[in-house]
Amino acid sequence: MPFELAPLPYPADALEAAIDKTTMEIHHGRHHKAYVDNLNAALAGHDSLLALPVDQLMRQIAHVPEAIRQKVINNGGGHANHTFFWNIMSPNGGGEPTGNLASAITSTFGGLDNLKAKIKEAALGRFGSGWAWVVLDQGKLEITSTANQDTPLMVGKTPLLGVDVWEHAYYLRYQNKRADYVDAWWKVVNWKAIEERFGA
Ligand code: MN
Repeated sequence: MPFELAPLPYPADALEAAIDKTTMEIHHGRHHKAYVDNLNAALAGHDSLLALPVDQLMRQIAHVPEAIRQKVINNGGGHANHTFFWNIMSPNGGGEPTGNLASAITSTFGGLDNLKAKIKEAALGRFGSGWAWVVLDQGKLEITSTANQDTPLMVGKTPLLGVDVWEHAYYLRYQNKRADYVDAWWKVVNWKAIEERFGA
């Protein structure tokens, strides 16, 4: 069973508060689709790997044959990261987290503003293409960043929040101003979805 591109969980123009419709259409319909297609091509004939949920595939990356491993890192990572990304954004996003997640953010970072500042630092510090993340590592919150489509899943960490800082994610509206994109991005963060991931 090949991997499939799920539709966006909202219309392409739903995140206009931070991300324009054309960027969403190209990002999902072309970039994400290419990761899915290339992942399926890389795994042709590897039926047991094709049967795994993509997050599990990435957690088990060390077991993927070496000859195809880098292709799976690039494209399986791309598929996992983007599937995650669409679902931690919402047209009703923004605001602040609540409950246990809010408490954990306060105890770990000293509050949401500090978390946002550290994510911005990670996002701007990532030279070239990649991601800035809040992950769960052994039950603790941590800020990290990865290059290209590398996913924290490969090193046993669970993404809770992640912002795509590839230029394809922001260039049409923000051009070279990655900082402005990251600042605006908080308006569409789906804290409810992130709280659910934290609780799971
Ligand atoms: Mn992307």
